[in-house]
Amino acid sequence: MTDCIFCKIIEGDIPSEKVYEDELVYAFNDIEPAAPHHVLIIPKKHISSLNDLNEENSKVISHIFIIASKIAKKLGVDKDGYRVVSNCGEAGGQTVPHVHFHLIAGRNLQWPPG
Ligand code: 5GP
Ligand code: ZN
Repeated sequence: MTDCIFCKIIEGDIPSEKVYEDELVYAFNDIEPAAPHHVLIIPKKHISSLNDLNEENSKVISHIFIIASKIAKKLGVDKDGYRVVSNCGEAGGQTVPHVHFHLIAGRNLQWPPG
């Protein structure tokens, strides 16, 4: 999508710190990290939110979780623990309408979140 900031990041039109990339997904450091490690993992194909997942486009989601665990291992946080979360809609805290998963780690995370 032309006016989507995450699509622009995938295209390289907006710079980002790449953590991982393959044919299906792109992962990069969050610009406002909420923890010592804060990586965003996104599908390369634009999907606006969790609400837009269906049988045809959702295979990438299981792939994203596999990649999240690989990134966690690479960052060395897999043993201590980490969180993978996707915010959906305004009340859910979603600010960018391109579905994304936050991988957050490096400190003791509180539950429930605020
Ligand atoms: P949301 O609030 O939608 O769950 O998460 C969006 C995330 O994208 C936020 O954590 C925000 O800091 C991050 N973000 C927004 N714009 C940019 C950007 O241009 N570059 C990077 N690296 N992260 C961004
Ligand atoms: Zn997009």
